[in-house]
Amino acid sequence: MSKAYVKKSKLLKATLGLKNIMGRHFLAIEQAIRDGTPTAWATSGTPVELLYAMDVQPMLPENSATISAARKYSQKFIELAEDQGFSYDLCSYFKTNIGAVESNVDVTIGGINKPTFMLSSDVICDTHVNWFQVQAERMNVPHFTIDVPHVVSNTNNRQYNYFKKYVAEQVWELLDFIQEVTGHEMNMERSKEVAKNSYDLSMVWQEIYELRKNIPCPISTKDTFGGLFPLFTMPGLKAPIKLYKRMYREAKARVDAGIGALEQENYRLMFEGIPFWYNLKYFAMLEKYGAIIVYEPYTYAFSKFMNPNVTKDMLLNKPIEAMSELMLSFWYIFDLKTRIQKFKETVDEWKIDGVLLHNNMSCRPNACGLYDLKRRLSDDYDIPCLIITSDMNDPRKMNETQVSNQIESFIEILHKRKKK
Ligand code: SF4
Repeated sequence: MSKAYVKKSKLLKATLGLKNIMGRHFLAIEQAIRDGTPTAWATSGTPVELLYAMDVQPMLPENSATISAARKYSQKFIELAEDQGFSYDLCSYFKTNIGAVESNVDVTIGGINKPTFMLSSDVICDTHVNWFQVQAERMNVPHFTIDVPHVVSNTNNRQYNYFKKYVAEQVWELLDFIQEVTGHEMNMERSKEVAKNSYDLSMVWQEIYELRKNIPCPISTKDTFGGLFPLFTMPGLKAPIKLYKRMYREAKARVDAGIGALEQENYRLMFEGIPFWYNLKYFAMLEKYGAIIVYEPYTYAFSKFMNPNVTKDMLLNKPIEAMSELMLSFWYIFDLKTRIQKFKETVDEWKIDGVLLHNNMSCRPNACGLYDLKRRLSDDYDIPCLIITSDMNDPRKMNETQVSNQIESFIEILHKRKKK
């Protein structure tokens, strides 16, 4: 197999602006706490836009947990949570948050302030609900949760319409809850502006993804793994839209000039799952083979406007109904049949040579079905897949040597297929 020397992938200059944008997010939290503006913890998958629309400052504990991991503190916090009796098998984001709060650490290593209230949903996983239940009780703050049914392959129209009403009714109740807890009322004009910004942000992100269809691919996970954070911490604000537009322009210039993020692109991969935040440089290992990840369902999923029923017009005129319908069509609640179809389409459109599937020990909702997915993609569509077992926040669950060997063998397979 050729192992020609391949230079490291190039980060977009615009991506460097991400630090500033996220810095502004944390400054806004600090300011809100100083001014007595209401704050809320929110789990991913909840309509964070509504918090912005009601002048409540969101805080995302999952985002804080990734900071702990990137700064190499997550293991310590996880072990602290385990000392309190939380199981080794539970979600490592949850346990990182337990340990970080317990240790009362600074935001720069994943600390997070006590909020005015908490907002969770079981749209992605029930851990979100149980996590906030535990922390809301410990901190003595109110907690609101949105129950979202999963749309499966045999859900019929009558059921789907019922689901939409069921979720929308809870979102209306959420508005009452926020008003009761904070005294803030929903301002429809502000809500339209926030909805428009959220839509625009997602659209630019999707356009960036469109550029990744090009060979060579203009951007790597160095840009997208971190680049996703504004999508779920700041949907509804203007600043991240400008950042994404800069990323888009720079990536487009690379496409026009025929330049890729990697100097020599040999293999195009998809990575499914949450990355290992404590060891992101591990992904650079792929580059020595000239392999580049060109699509991650995880980072794409947060550009939530993927349901063709939810138009910009609907979002502006019926934001509650639109946000409710979006919660029913999030990538991570697709059933296996839809997931297989989506993978097949993505592999074709992004011209992907192989799929890496992260069997995440923390995240059973995400990892569930991976072996069926692998089998169907391999048997029915001849798409090579590799399952890697690890964890997004718990370094104890990554065996670097084993993963390196698996990846090397996988690249060998891709190489032989290319030679045929
Ligand atoms: S990592 Fe998985 S289990 Fe943990 S909070 Fe996220 S979706 Fe839920």
